[in-house]
Amino acid sequence: RNSLLNPEAENADPDQALRPRSLDEFIGQQAARENIRVFIEAAKKRQESLDHVLFFGPPGLGKTTLAQIIAREMGVGFRATSGPVIVKSGDLAALLTNLEDGDVLFIDEIHRLQPVVEEVLYPAMEDRALDLMIGEGPSARSVRIDLPHFTLVGATTRQGLLSTPLRDRFGIPVRLQFYSIEELRQVITRAARLLGMEIAPEGAEEIAKRSRGTPRIAGRLLRRVRDFADVAGSKIVDRFIADEALNRLEVDKLGLDLMDRRYLMMIADIYKGGPVGLDTLAAGLSEPRDTVEEVIEPYLIQLGLVARTARGRQLNGLAWRHLGLTDPREAEG
Ligand code: ADP
Repeated sequence: RNSLLNPEAENADPDQALRPRSLDEFIGQQAARENIRVFIEAAKKRQESLDHVLFFGPPGLGKTTLAQIIAREMGVGFRATSGPVIVKSGDLAALLTNLEDGDVLFIDEIHRLQPVVEEVLYPAMEDRALDLMIGEGPSARSVRIDLPHFTLVGATTRQGLLSTPLRDRFGIPVRLQFYSIEELRQVITRAARLLGMEIAPEGAEEIAKRSRGTPRIAGRLLRRVRDFADVAGSKIVDRFIADEALNRLEVDKLGLDLMDRRYLMMIADIYKGGPVGLDTLAAGLSEPRDTVEEVIEPYLIQLGLVARTARGRQLNGLAWRHLGLTDPREAEG
């Protein structure tokens, strides 16, 4: 896949530079932002730590950023880890016992925690307690350790991937949405200012339209467009420069890349528009099922190019037009 458009490909350093640092600076996600603001204020008033928060939504929409903002606005420390990194329950126990009072513990990809590790999390979230087994065999016994107050912030790409007992222990579930073109235009304008580059409103809009509703992709495309502008010797990124750069990067008018087009072409060509099952598609594309479902499809569905039906994936009229093809069913009818 075109790595430019892969919202999962993370380049920690450049991302960090563009991260908004407060709720006021954070663009978009208005409903989520307003709710979080109220919960933070209430918790501060009661001098309590914030209830556990679960963010879910496609990669690159700002889950990590919001977790950091929560810590900063609460005035507490921030610790980050991710589901696949915590292998043993002892790893999580070590993390939990090292927390300072009030800390935010951020667990990215929390749906990928091992079940045995997840079990440690339940009493920690509910009672701020850790149950440790000491010794082995008949003399083994369990001791309970009190943990400091803390706020667990979990992030996952889909709420449905989480086990029910874990999901139920989050007091504040927050769904993040794809950004509108106007919101992305603001994200891009802000990033351009931070990067010290000049961009015309139409240039920002062109990049916004092709960023798949995702700020991480917007930031990345902006940097690549800047490279083209620098080499071309233009002082300001206008619509023309942005369009030309993105065409050369094979990012089309809707922000689709070769992988998206392969996905659409496969349904059109081989399955006559569908419906076709997810596993069949994933096998045909030689991509993991999760990647197809969590990275490729959400944006295509959001755009209305593809529909998920009970019998499988199906192309909508818009997809046929985007591919420059005729829907065979329409041709018949
Ligand atoms: P996630 O954790 O959901 O994968 P991140 O929080 O890492 O996403 O966000 C990716 C990048 O996108 C951040 O580094 C930041 O530069 C940018 N970003 C995300 N949300 C916003 C926003 N609301 N406003 C401006 N930039 C944002």
